[in-house]
Amino acid sequence: MSENRVIGILGGGQLGRMLSVAASRLGLRCHIYEPDAAPAGDVAYRLTNASYEDRAALRAFAESVDVITYEFENVPTSALDLLESIRPISPNRRALAVSQDRLEEKTFLNGIGLATAPFADVPDERDLPAALAQIGTPSILKTRRMGYDGKGQVRITDPAQAEWTGAPSVLEGYVEFSAEISVIIARAADGQIAAFDPGLNVHQGGILRSTTVPCGLSGKITTDAVLIAAKIVNELDYVGVMGVELFVAPEGLIVNEIAPRVHNSGHWTQAGCAVDQFEQHIRAVVGLPLGDGRRHADIQMENLIGNDIDRLPELLAEPGVQLHLYGKGEARPGRKMGHLNRIRS
Ligand code: ADP
Ligand code: MG
Repeated sequence: MSENRVIGILGGGQLGRMLSVAASRLGLRCHIYEPDAAPAGDVAYRLTNASYEDRAALRAFAESVDVITYEFENVPTSALDLLESIRPISPNRRALAVSQDRLEEKTFLNGIGLATAPFADVPDERDLPAALAQIGTPSILKTRRMGYDGKGQVRITDPAQAEWTGAPSVLEGYVEFSAEISVIIARAADGQIAAFDPGLNVHQGGILRSTTVPCGLSGKITTDAVLIAAKIVNELDYVGVMGVELFVAPEGLIVNEIAPRVHNSGHWTQAGCAVDQFEQHIRAVVGLPLGDGRRHADIQMENLIGNDIDRLPELLAEPGVQLHLYGKGEARPGRKMGHLNRIRS
């Protein structure tokens, strides 16, 4: 791995930005591909601002890099096919396909013996009554594709008042969880695995609000959670960092969803570990050995969403806080503007 190699990153949001910073610390360069506004472009070596339909731009991008990765899993298949004909993509296409589609994701997870919420395929609105009869209420209808931050989801308590999402969906039984946790796990091409300590996640309105480590759960639960994540990345022959979201429920650990990329609930690693999730991902995709991801501090990560950014003066003055701002312009409601890592010990 020479120092001037270039990593292509699909997606130019805050995750691409923090990946670029981590890569630059290792003497590597990042070329970002992003159709829209790209906070990552401010810190990367190169930015291509073009659509995923622009085949000439995709080809030039692929030819300018050594390896391709992504911070965003909903890249169109046609773009991926073209890119992959020119340069390798990590994590691999199977991991992407499985995590792009909630139906395939749950089918895959159940197929390797992992528990998910009970679910039913709902290809069309007219299939909803049968799915509701099978799964019951309360339940959550989620679009199979493109959902994030709680978008594309409808909660159903009364079947008579069920709304349709407008796209092929899955209906999930509501899990009465006592906690939500996530495991951020890295896997290298040679099968080496490094998992960060599971974090306790709090969501508000479908958006992650905070992650706390340690998560306060028993060693049995946290070990089981890591073993589940390890099974998933091994089964997929995965290379890179994955975020695995789990519910802690009376019936045991239930996998909610997987993200084939660095994950918001892993931002605490920036202040809590010698090697954070971003560097771990870069190491994995360029073929370097994984680093030391052991936790050396107790951390609470808090997202700065929309108007939270108005608290900036007080946050800048707060002791023991590592602040990250993404350089986004306007603070729209629900928009992730930054985060902070509060170092507790
Ligand atoms: P997204 O892709 O938007 O993160 P998720 O499937 O993770 O979608 O749902 C967002 C949040 O909604 C979860 O973190 C959890 O708090 C809640 N949620 C999702 N599915 C269920 C479920 N089956 N039972 C209970 N809560 C759920
Ligand atoms: Mg989620």
